[in-house]
Amino acid sequence: MLLNPLLLNKGARIAVIGAGISGIAAANVLKKNGFEAVVFEKAENPGGVWAVAYPDIHLQNTYASYHLSDFPWSFKPDLHPSGAQIMRYWQEAIKHLRLDVRLGHEVLALEEQSDGWLLRYKNQKGNYEETFKYVIIAVGQYTEGKYRPPFPGEEQFNGTIITERDVRSLDIFNDKRVAVVGFGKSALDMSTFAARRSKEVHHIFRTPRWTIPEWILGVHFTHILFSRFGTVMMTSWAHPTPAERFLHGPLKAGINKFWDLIASVFKGQIERLGKNKDQAAKERLNAVIPKHKFLPDLRSAGALAPESYYPLVADGKIQPHQAEVSGFTRNGIQLQNGCEIPCDLAVLSLGSKTPVFPFLPEKYRQLCSKANPMARSSIVISFIRIFRVLALQVSTMASCISPLWKLVRSGCALMCAARSNCRPSPKWNAASNTSARGSAPTSNSSRHVRSLSARVFSNILIFC
Ligand SMILES: Cc1cc2nc3c(=O)[nH]c(=O)nc-3n(C[C@H](O)[C@H](O)[C@H](O)COP(=O)(O)OP(=O)(O)OC[C@H]3O[C@@H](n4cnc5c(N)ncnc54)[C@H](O)[C@@H]3O)c2cc1C
Repeated sequence: MLLNPLLLNKGARIAVIGAGISGIAAANVLKKNGFEAVVFEKAENPGGVWAVAYPDIHLQNTYASYHLSDFPWSFKPDLHPSGAQIMRYWQEAIKHLRLDVRLGHEVLALEEQSDGWLLRYKNQKGNYEETFKYVIIAVGQYTEGKYRPPFPGEEQFNGTIITERDVRSLDIFNDKRVAVVGFGKSALDMSTFAARRSKEVHHIFRTPRWTIPEWILGVHFTHILFSRFGTVMMTSWAHPTPAERFLHGPLKAGINKFWDLIASVFKGQIERLGKNKDQAAKERLNAVIPKHKFLPDLRSAGALAPESYYPLVADGKIQPHQAEVSGFTRNGIQLQNGCEIPCDLAVLSLGSKTPVFPFLPEKYRQLCSKANPMARSSIVISFIRIFRVLALQVSTMASCISPLWKLVRSGCALMCAARSNCRPSPKWNAASNTSARGSAPTSNSSRHVRSLSARVFSNILIFC
Protein backbone atom coordinates (compact mmCIF):
# COMPACT_ATOMS: atom_id res chain seq x y z
CA MET A 1 0.00 0.00 0.00
CA LEU A 2 1.27 3.43 -0.83
CA LEU A 3 1.40 5.77 2.08
CA ASN A 4 1.61 9.46 1.82
CA PRO A 5 4.62 10.54 3.87
CA LEU A 6 3.67 14.21 3.89
CA LEU A 7 0.20 13.45 5.20
CA LEU A 8 1.62 11.11 7.84
CA ASN A 9 3.91 13.84 9.01
CA LYS A 10 1.41 16.64 9.17
CA GLY A 11 2.70 19.31 11.50
CA ALA A 12 6.31 18.42 10.78
CA ARG A 13 8.94 21.15 10.83
CA ILE A 14 10.12 21.94 7.34
CA ALA A 15 13.05 24.21 6.56
CA VAL A 16 12.83 26.29 3.42
CA ILE A 17 16.13 27.65 2.14
CA GLY A 18 15.72 30.93 0.28
CA ALA A 19 13.15 33.72 0.53
CA GLY A 20 12.73 34.43 -3.15
CA ILE A 21 9.31 33.92 -4.63
CA SER A 22 9.77 30.14 -4.64
CA GLY A 23 10.66 29.91 -0.98
CA ILE A 24 7.90 32.27 0.09
CA ALA A 25 5.33 30.48 -2.05
CA ALA A 26 6.45 27.09 -0.71
CA ALA A 27 6.34 28.27 2.92
CA ASN A 28 2.87 29.68 2.37
CA VAL A 29 1.59 26.42 0.91
CA LEU A 30 3.16 24.38 3.70
CA LYS A 31 1.81 26.63 6.43
CA LYS A 32 -1.68 26.56 4.95
CA ASN A 33 -1.48 22.77 5.02
CA GLY A 34 -0.55 22.47 8.67
CA PHE A 35 3.23 22.30 8.55
CA GLU A 36 5.66 24.46 10.46
CA ALA A 37 7.71 26.14 7.77
CA VAL A 38 10.81 28.13 8.66
CA VAL A 39 12.40 30.12 5.85
CA PHE A 40 16.15 30.79 5.98
CA GLU A 41 17.35 33.70 3.87
CA LYS A 42 20.99 34.71 3.76
CA ALA A 43 20.29 38.22 2.46
CA GLU A 44 18.97 41.03 4.61
CA ASN A 45 15.90 41.37 2.39
CA PRO A 46 13.47 38.85 0.96
CA GLY A 47 12.71 38.83 -2.77
CA GLY A 48 15.75 36.95 -4.11
CA VAL A 49 16.81 38.17 -7.55
CA TRP A 50 14.56 41.19 -7.28
CA ALA A 51 16.43 42.38 -4.19
CA VAL A 52 19.72 42.50 -6.08
CA ALA A 53 18.53 43.50 -9.55
CA TYR A 54 19.59 46.68 -11.34
CA PRO A 55 17.51 49.87 -11.06
CA ASP A 56 14.54 50.28 -13.39
CA ILE A 57 14.18 46.55 -13.96
CA HIS A 58 10.63 45.54 -14.79
CA LEU A 59 8.90 42.20 -14.70
CA GLN A 60 8.36 40.69 -18.11
CA ASN A 61 5.12 39.02 -17.10
CA THR A 62 2.17 41.21 -16.31
CA TYR A 63 1.33 41.71 -12.64
CA ALA A 64 -1.80 39.56 -12.96
CA SER A 65 0.32 36.45 -13.51
CA TYR A 66 2.83 37.18 -10.79
CA HIS A 67 1.37 36.88 -7.32
CA LEU A 68 0.35 34.26 -4.81
CA SER A 69 -3.06 32.90 -5.60
CA ASP A 70 -4.28 33.73 -2.07
CA PHE A 71 -2.68 37.17 -1.82
CA PRO A 72 -3.39 39.52 -4.71
CA TRP A 73 -1.46 42.77 -5.13
CA SER A 74 -2.58 45.15 -2.40
CA PHE A 75 -1.76 48.14 -4.60
CA LYS A 76 -1.98 48.85 -8.31
CA PRO A 77 1.45 48.15 -9.78
CA ASP A 78 2.57 48.92 -13.32
CA LEU A 79 1.36 46.46 -15.95
CA HIS A 80 4.91 45.09 -15.77
CA PRO A 81 5.75 45.81 -12.12
CA SER A 82 9.08 47.44 -11.31
CA GLY A 83 11.65 45.69 -9.14
CA ALA A 84 10.71 48.02 -6.26
CA GLN A 85 7.01 47.13 -6.61
CA ILE A 86 7.82 43.43 -6.62
CA MET A 87 9.90 43.84 -3.46
CA ARG A 88 7.04 45.71 -1.80
CA TYR A 89 4.63 42.96 -2.77
CA TRP A 90 6.75 40.18 -1.24
CA GLN A 91 7.39 42.13 1.94
CA GLU A 92 3.65 42.68 2.34
CA ALA A 93 2.94 39.03 1.55
CA ILE A 94 5.32 37.78 4.24
CA LYS A 95 3.75 40.09 6.80
CA HIS A 96 0.17 39.39 5.82
CA LEU A 97 0.62 35.62 5.69
CA ARG A 98 2.65 35.66 8.93
CA LEU A 99 5.41 33.54 7.49
CA ASP A 100 8.43 32.72 9.62
CA VAL A 101 11.14 34.23 7.44
CA ARG A 102 14.54 34.60 9.05
CA LEU A 103 16.58 37.18 7.18
CA GLY A 104 20.35 37.27 7.44
CA HIS A 105 20.40 33.50 8.06
CA GLU A 106 22.69 31.64 5.71
CA VAL A 107 22.37 27.88 5.56
CA LEU A 108 25.86 26.39 5.66
CA ALA A 109 25.30 22.66 5.73
CA LEU A 110 22.68 19.93 5.77
CA GLU A 111 23.47 16.72 7.58
CA GLU A 112 21.33 13.68 7.01
CA GLN A 113 19.99 12.05 10.16
CA SER A 114 17.88 8.95 10.79
CA ASP A 115 14.61 10.86 10.87
CA GLY A 116 15.31 14.17 9.24
CA TRP A 117 17.98 16.77 8.69
CA LEU A 118 20.35 18.74 10.85
CA LEU A 119 20.58 22.21 9.37
CA ARG A 120 23.59 24.38 10.20
CA TYR A 121 23.29 28.09 9.63
CA LYS A 122 24.91 31.34 10.58
CA ASN A 123 23.57 34.77 11.34
CA GLN A 124 25.09 37.94 12.78
CA LYS A 125 25.23 36.43 16.26
CA GLY A 126 27.04 33.24 15.39
CA ASN A 127 26.66 29.67 14.11
CA TYR A 128 23.67 27.53 15.04
CA GLU A 129 21.97 24.26 14.17
CA GLU A 130 18.37 23.04 14.16
CA THR A 131 16.69 19.84 13.10
CA PHE A 132 13.92 19.54 10.56
CA LYS A 133 11.95 16.64 9.19
CA TYR A 134 12.22 17.87 5.62
CA VAL A 135 14.08 20.55 3.75
CA ILE A 136 12.97 22.50 0.74
CA ILE A 137 15.70 24.14 -1.27
CA ALA A 138 14.54 27.22 -3.11
CA VAL A 139 17.82 29.00 -3.71
CA GLY A 140 17.11 30.10 -7.26
CA GLN A 141 19.00 29.68 -10.48
CA TYR A 142 20.94 32.91 -10.25
CA THR A 143 22.17 32.67 -6.71
CA GLU A 144 25.83 31.96 -7.49
CA GLY A 145 26.31 35.34 -9.09
CA LYS A 146 27.10 36.40 -12.61
CA TYR A 147 29.08 34.39 -15.12
CA ARG A 148 32.14 36.55 -15.62
CA PRO A 149 34.91 34.85 -17.59
CA PRO A 150 38.28 36.60 -17.67
CA PHE A 151 39.24 38.09 -21.05
CA PRO A 152 42.77 38.56 -22.34
CA GLY A 153 44.04 42.11 -22.00
CA GLU A 154 41.69 43.21 -19.22
CA GLU A 155 44.62 44.59 -17.21
CA GLN A 156 45.57 47.09 -19.91
CA PHE A 157 42.02 48.39 -20.46
CA ASN A 158 41.73 52.01 -19.34
CA GLY A 159 37.98 51.81 -18.76
CA THR A 160 35.77 49.89 -16.34
CA ILE A 161 34.40 46.37 -16.75
CA ILE A 162 31.23 45.44 -14.87
CA THR A 163 28.28 43.08 -15.06
CA GLU A 164 24.72 44.37 -14.91
CA ARG A 165 24.53 43.28 -11.29
CA ASP A 166 27.11 45.95 -10.43
CA VAL A 167 24.82 48.68 -11.75
CA ARG A 168 23.36 50.42 -8.70
CA SER A 169 22.49 53.69 -10.47
CA LEU A 170 21.86 54.34 -14.14
CA ASP A 171 24.02 57.46 -13.81
CA ILE A 172 26.94 55.11 -14.33
CA PHE A 173 26.23 55.43 -18.06
CA ASN A 174 26.25 59.22 -18.15
CA ASP A 175 28.38 60.62 -20.98
CA LYS A 176 30.33 57.41 -21.40
CA ARG A 177 31.10 55.32 -24.43
CA VAL A 178 29.44 52.07 -23.45
CA ALA A 179 29.79 48.54 -24.83
CA VAL A 180 27.27 45.92 -23.74
CA VAL A 181 28.03 42.25 -24.38
CA GLY A 182 25.27 39.63 -24.57
CA PHE A 183 21.77 39.30 -26.01
CA GLY A 184 19.63 38.33 -23.04
CA LYS A 185 17.05 40.40 -21.21
CA SER A 186 19.70 42.16 -19.10
CA ALA A 187 21.89 43.03 -22.09
CA LEU A 188 18.92 44.52 -23.94
CA ASP A 189 17.96 46.52 -20.84
CA MET A 190 21.53 47.74 -20.37
CA SER A 191 21.83 48.83 -24.01
CA THR A 192 18.50 50.65 -23.81
CA PHE A 193 19.29 52.40 -20.50
CA ALA A 194 22.72 53.40 -21.76
CA ALA A 195 21.39 54.74 -25.07
CA ARG A 196 19.44 57.40 -23.19
CA ARG A 197 22.45 58.59 -21.20
CA SER A 198 25.69 57.72 -22.94
CA LYS A 199 27.73 59.31 -25.70
CA GLU A 200 27.57 56.13 -27.73
CA VAL A 201 26.41 52.56 -27.19
CA HIS A 202 27.77 49.46 -28.85
CA HIS A 203 25.86 46.23 -28.46
CA ILE A 204 28.04 43.18 -29.05
CA PHE A 205 26.59 39.69 -29.34
CA ARG A 206 27.43 36.34 -30.87
CA THR A 207 23.89 35.57 -32.04
CA PRO A 208 20.82 37.78 -32.01
CA ARG A 209 17.94 36.09 -30.23
CA TRP A 210 14.22 36.30 -30.73
CA THR A 211 12.61 38.62 -28.25
CA ILE A 212 8.93 39.04 -27.63
CA PRO A 213 7.34 42.34 -28.60
CA GLU A 214 4.84 43.74 -26.12
CA TRP A 215 2.21 43.86 -28.87
CA ILE A 216 1.72 41.31 -31.64
CA LEU A 217 -0.46 42.77 -34.40
CA GLY A 218 -2.17 44.90 -31.78
CA VAL A 219 -2.77 42.04 -29.35
CA HIS A 220 -0.90 41.97 -26.05
CA PHE A 221 1.70 39.19 -26.18
CA THR A 222 0.41 37.52 -23.02
CA HIS A 223 -2.87 36.65 -24.77
CA ILE A 224 -1.03 34.81 -27.52
CA LEU A 225 2.06 33.38 -25.90
CA PHE A 226 1.51 33.28 -22.14
CA SER A 227 -1.78 31.51 -22.43
CA ARG A 228 -2.95 27.90 -22.55
CA PHE A 229 -3.09 28.28 -26.31
CA GLY A 230 0.56 29.34 -26.51
CA THR A 231 1.55 26.46 -24.25
CA VAL A 232 -0.28 23.87 -26.28
CA MET A 233 1.37 25.13 -29.44
CA MET A 234 4.83 24.33 -28.07
CA THR A 235 6.39 20.95 -28.57
CA SER A 236 5.58 18.94 -25.52
CA TRP A 237 8.42 16.74 -24.35
CA ALA A 238 6.63 15.33 -21.36
CA HIS A 239 3.39 13.41 -21.30
CA PRO A 240 1.37 15.37 -23.77
CA THR A 241 -2.36 14.90 -23.79
CA PRO A 242 -3.73 12.88 -26.72
CA ALA A 243 -4.79 16.13 -28.40
CA GLU A 244 -1.32 17.59 -27.96
CA ARG A 245 0.23 14.38 -29.30
CA PHE A 246 -1.97 14.65 -32.36
CA LEU A 247 -1.09 18.32 -32.79
CA HIS A 248 2.64 17.74 -32.55
CA GLY A 249 2.53 14.49 -34.52
CA PRO A 250 0.43 14.41 -37.69
CA LEU A 251 -0.19 18.16 -37.52
CA LYS A 252 3.41 19.12 -36.80
CA ALA A 253 3.76 20.94 -40.11
CA GLY A 254 0.85 23.18 -39.10
CA ILE A 255 2.44 23.90 -35.75
CA ASN A 256 5.72 24.83 -37.42
CA LYS A 257 3.85 27.10 -39.80
CA PHE A 258 2.21 28.82 -36.84
CA TRP A 259 5.58 29.60 -35.21
CA ASP A 260 7.06 30.64 -38.54
CA LEU A 261 4.15 33.03 -38.90
CA ILE A 262 4.76 34.47 -35.43
CA ALA A 263 8.46 34.87 -36.26
CA SER A 264 7.69 36.62 -39.54
CA VAL A 265 5.28 38.97 -37.78
CA PHE A 266 8.03 39.88 -35.28
CA LYS A 267 10.53 40.26 -38.10
CA GLY A 268 8.12 42.47 -40.02
CA GLN A 269 7.54 44.62 -36.95
CA ILE A 270 11.29 45.16 -36.54
CA GLU A 271 11.90 45.76 -40.26
CA ARG A 272 9.11 48.31 -40.40
CA LEU A 273 11.21 50.54 -38.13
CA GLY A 274 13.69 50.89 -40.99
CA LYS A 275 11.08 52.18 -43.41
CA ASN A 276 12.03 55.59 -44.80
CA LYS A 277 15.45 55.25 -43.18
CA ASP A 278 18.85 54.89 -44.86
CA GLN A 279 20.55 51.63 -45.77
CA ALA A 280 22.72 51.74 -42.62
CA ALA A 281 19.58 51.70 -40.43
CA LYS A 282 18.24 48.72 -42.36
CA GLU A 283 21.53 46.91 -41.89
CA ARG A 284 21.56 47.61 -38.17
CA LEU A 285 18.05 46.23 -37.83
CA ASN A 286 18.96 43.22 -39.93
CA ALA A 287 21.86 42.52 -37.59
CA VAL A 288 19.52 42.11 -34.61
CA ILE A 289 17.00 39.89 -36.42
CA PRO A 290 17.71 36.19 -35.74
CA LYS A 291 18.08 33.83 -38.65
CA HIS A 292 17.22 30.72 -36.63
CA LYS A 293 13.84 29.31 -35.60
CA PHE A 294 11.75 31.19 -33.07
CA LEU A 295 10.56 28.48 -30.71
CA PRO A 296 13.85 27.42 -29.06
CA ASP A 297 14.47 31.01 -27.96
CA LEU A 298 10.99 31.40 -26.58
CA ARG A 299 11.22 28.19 -24.60
CA SER A 300 14.72 28.61 -23.24
CA ALA A 301 14.98 32.29 -22.45
CA GLY A 302 12.01 34.21 -23.75
CA ALA A 303 12.75 37.88 -23.15
CA LEU A 304 10.38 40.75 -23.61
CA ALA A 305 12.05 43.34 -25.80
CA PRO A 306 12.40 46.72 -24.07
CA GLU A 307 9.98 48.92 -25.98
CA SER A 308 12.64 51.26 -27.31
CA TYR A 309 15.46 48.79 -28.05
CA TYR A 310 14.70 48.28 -31.76
CA PRO A 311 13.78 51.95 -32.40
CA LEU A 312 17.11 52.95 -30.79
CA VAL A 313 18.90 50.49 -33.09
CA ALA A 314 17.04 51.97 -36.07
CA ASP A 315 18.07 55.48 -35.01
CA GLY A 316 21.70 54.46 -34.60
CA LYS A 317 21.72 55.22 -30.87
CA ILE A 318 22.55 51.56 -30.34
CA GLN A 319 25.19 50.18 -32.70
CA PRO A 320 24.86 46.39 -33.01
CA HIS A 321 27.92 44.22 -33.69
CA GLN A 322 27.46 40.53 -34.29
CA ALA A 323 30.86 39.21 -33.29
CA GLU A 324 32.78 37.28 -30.66
CA VAL A 325 34.77 39.21 -28.07
CA SER A 326 38.41 38.17 -28.14
CA GLY A 327 39.69 40.47 -25.39
CA PHE A 328 40.38 44.02 -24.27
CA THR A 329 42.76 46.62 -25.61
CA ARG A 330 43.83 49.84 -23.87
CA ASN A 331 40.89 51.67 -25.40
CA GLY A 332 38.17 49.16 -25.70
CA ILE A 333 37.01 45.73 -26.77
CA GLN A 334 38.75 43.66 -29.41
CA LEU A 335 36.47 41.54 -31.57
CA GLN A 336 37.49 38.34 -33.28
CA ASN A 337 36.59 39.83 -36.66
CA GLY A 338 39.45 42.30 -36.18
CA CYS A 339 37.37 45.35 -35.20
CA GLU A 340 38.13 47.31 -32.06
CA ILE A 341 35.18 48.90 -30.24
CA PRO A 342 36.36 51.91 -28.26
CA CYS A 343 34.60 52.27 -24.90
CA ASP A 344 34.97 53.60 -21.33
CA LEU A 345 32.52 51.17 -19.76
CA ALA A 346 32.04 47.52 -20.69
CA VAL A 347 28.95 45.78 -19.34
CA LEU A 348 29.22 41.99 -19.55
CA SER A 349 25.73 40.48 -19.46
CA LEU A 350 26.76 36.91 -20.05
CA GLY A 351 24.33 35.04 -17.82
CA SER A 352 24.73 33.50 -14.40
CA LYS A 353 26.85 30.78 -12.89
CA THR A 354 25.32 27.35 -12.50
CA PRO A 355 23.92 26.73 -9.01
CA VAL A 356 26.10 24.37 -6.95
CA PHE A 357 24.19 23.82 -3.66
CA PRO A 358 27.27 24.09 -1.40
CA PHE A 359 25.32 23.09 1.72
CA LEU A 360 24.22 19.71 0.37
CA PRO A 361 26.10 16.59 1.43
CA GLU A 362 28.73 15.70 -1.15
CA LYS A 363 26.89 12.69 -2.58
CA TYR A 364 23.83 14.77 -3.39
CA ARG A 365 25.91 17.58 -4.77
CA GLN A 366 27.65 15.20 -7.14
CA LEU A 367 24.33 13.85 -8.21
CA CYS A 368 23.17 17.39 -8.95
CA SER A 369 26.06 18.12 -11.20
CA LYS A 370 25.82 14.77 -12.95
CA ALA A 371 22.06 14.86 -13.32
CA ASN A 372 21.90 18.42 -14.43
CA PRO A 373 23.86 18.82 -17.63
CA MET A 374 21.34 21.32 -18.92
CA ALA A 375 22.16 23.35 -15.83
CA ARG A 376 20.12 26.44 -15.29
CA SER A 377 17.37 26.05 -17.80
CA SER A 378 16.53 22.43 -17.37
CA ILE A 379 14.33 20.50 -15.11
CA VAL A 380 16.00 17.72 -13.29
CA ILE A 381 14.51 15.42 -10.81
CA SER A 382 16.39 12.56 -9.32
CA PHE A 383 14.96 10.35 -6.71
CA ILE A 384 17.81 9.28 -4.50
CA ARG A 385 15.86 7.85 -1.67
CA ILE A 386 12.26 7.77 -0.73
CA PHE A 387 11.22 11.01 0.78
CA ARG A 388 14.15 12.37 2.67
CA VAL A 389 14.94 15.72 1.23
CA LEU A 390 12.70 17.65 -1.01
CA ALA A 391 14.79 20.14 -2.83
CA LEU A 392 13.07 22.39 -5.21
CA GLN A 393 13.90 25.26 -7.33
CA VAL A 394 11.18 27.25 -8.85
CA SER A 395 11.84 30.07 -11.19
CA THR A 396 10.85 31.96 -14.27
CA MET A 397 7.11 32.07 -14.74
CA ALA A 398 5.57 32.88 -11.43
CA SER A 399 2.29 31.75 -12.82
CA CYS A 400 3.38 28.39 -11.49
CA ILE A 401 2.91 29.70 -7.99
CA SER A 402 -0.74 28.92 -8.27
CA PRO A 403 -0.14 25.28 -9.26
CA LEU A 404 2.37 25.19 -6.42
CA TRP A 405 -0.64 25.27 -4.12
CA LYS A 406 -1.57 21.95 -5.55
CA LEU A 407 1.70 20.36 -4.56
CA VAL A 408 0.97 19.93 -0.93
CA ARG A 409 -2.78 20.23 -1.13
CA SER A 410 -3.03 17.27 -3.39
CA GLY A 411 -1.32 15.39 -0.65
CA CYS A 412 1.60 13.52 -1.91
CA ALA A 413 0.29 12.78 -5.36
CA LEU A 414 3.71 13.68 -6.59
CA MET A 415 5.53 11.33 -4.27
CA CYS A 416 3.07 8.50 -4.65
CA ALA A 417 3.21 8.75 -8.38
CA ALA A 418 6.96 8.72 -8.21
CA ARG A 419 7.00 5.61 -6.12
CA SER A 420 4.39 3.74 -8.07
CA ASN A 421 5.54 5.03 -11.39
CA CYS A 422 1.91 5.74 -12.21
CA ARG A 423 0.99 8.14 -14.95
CA PRO A 424 0.22 11.72 -14.04
CA SER A 425 -3.40 12.64 -13.93
CA PRO A 426 -4.85 14.93 -16.57
CA LYS A 427 -5.13 17.52 -13.82
CA TRP A 428 -1.37 17.85 -13.75
CA ASN A 429 -1.30 18.03 -17.49
CA ALA A 430 -3.53 21.03 -17.29
CA ALA A 431 -1.09 22.77 -15.02
CA SER A 432 1.85 22.40 -17.34
CA ASN A 433 3.80 25.48 -18.26
CA THR A 434 5.91 26.64 -21.10
CA SER A 435 9.37 26.61 -19.67
CA ALA A 436 8.91 23.12 -18.35
CA ARG A 437 8.32 21.96 -21.84
CA GLY A 438 11.49 23.41 -23.06
CA SER A 439 13.68 21.20 -20.99
CA ALA A 440 15.63 18.28 -22.22
CA PRO A 441 14.85 14.77 -21.09
CA THR A 442 17.14 12.92 -18.72
CA SER A 443 17.09 9.27 -17.78
CA ASN A 444 14.03 7.12 -18.28
CA SER A 445 13.67 6.45 -14.59
CA SER A 446 13.51 10.08 -13.68
CA ARG A 447 11.63 11.24 -16.72
CA HIS A 448 8.28 10.20 -15.48
CA VAL A 449 8.60 11.88 -12.12
CA ARG A 450 10.12 14.88 -13.69
CA SER A 451 7.33 15.35 -16.13
CA LEU A 452 4.80 15.15 -13.37
CA SER A 453 6.62 17.70 -11.32
CA ALA A 454 7.15 19.89 -14.30
CA ARG A 455 3.51 20.52 -14.18
CA VAL A 456 3.97 22.02 -10.78
CA PHE A 457 7.20 23.93 -11.11
CA SER A 458 8.99 25.43 -14.00
CA ASN A 459 12.32 24.30 -12.64
CA ILE A 460 12.52 21.73 -9.93
CA LEU A 461 15.10 19.57 -8.34
CA ILE A 462 13.82 16.92 -6.03
CA PHE A 463 15.62 14.47 -3.81
CA CYS A 464 13.54 11.98 -2.00
C1 LIG B 1 17.27 39.99 -14.41
C2 LIG B 1 16.17 38.97 -14.19
C3 LIG B 1 14.91 39.19 -14.70
C4 LIG B 1 13.90 38.26 -14.51
N1 LIG B 1 12.67 38.52 -15.01
C5 LIG B 1 11.67 37.62 -14.82
C6 LIG B 1 10.35 37.87 -15.28
O1 LIG B 1 10.11 38.90 -15.85
N2 LIG B 1 9.40 36.96 -15.07
C7 LIG B 1 9.66 35.80 -14.41
O2 LIG B 1 8.75 35.02 -14.22
N3 LIG B 1 10.90 35.54 -13.97
C8 LIG B 1 11.89 36.41 -14.15
N4 LIG B 1 13.15 36.15 -13.69
C9 LIG B 1 13.38 34.85 -13.10
C10 LIG B 1 13.39 34.93 -11.59
O3 LIG B 1 14.54 34.25 -11.25
C11 LIG B 1 12.13 34.32 -11.00
O4 LIG B 1 11.01 35.09 -11.38
C12 LIG B 1 12.07 34.26 -9.50
O5 LIG B 1 12.25 35.53 -8.94
C13 LIG B 1 13.07 33.29 -8.95
O6 LIG B 1 12.75 33.11 -7.60
P1 LIG B 1 13.43 32.01 -6.72
O7 LIG B 1 12.81 32.13 -5.37
O8 LIG B 1 13.37 30.71 -7.39
O9 LIG B 1 14.98 32.36 -6.66
P2 LIG B 1 15.71 33.67 -6.15
O10 LIG B 1 14.90 34.86 -6.40
O11 LIG B 1 17.07 33.61 -6.72
O12 LIG B 1 15.79 33.46 -4.57
C14 LIG B 1 16.67 32.55 -3.98
C15 LIG B 1 17.00 33.05 -2.60
O13 LIG B 1 17.75 32.04 -1.92
C16 LIG B 1 18.69 32.69 -1.10
N5 LIG B 1 19.77 31.76 -0.74
C17 LIG B 1 20.66 31.18 -1.58
N6 LIG B 1 21.50 30.38 -0.89
C18 LIG B 1 21.12 30.46 0.40
C19 LIG B 1 21.62 29.87 1.60
N7 LIG B 1 22.65 29.04 1.62
N8 LIG B 1 21.01 30.17 2.78
C20 LIG B 1 19.94 31.01 2.79
N9 LIG B 1 19.45 31.62 1.70
C21 LIG B 1 20.02 31.33 0.51
C22 LIG B 1 19.17 33.85 -1.95
O14 LIG B 1 19.76 34.87 -1.16
C23 LIG B 1 17.86 34.31 -2.59
O15 LIG B 1 17.23 35.31 -1.85
C24 LIG B 1 14.17 37.07 -13.83
C25 LIG B 1 15.44 36.85 -13.30
C26 LIG B 1 16.44 37.78 -13.48
C27 LIG B 1 17.82 37.52 -12.90
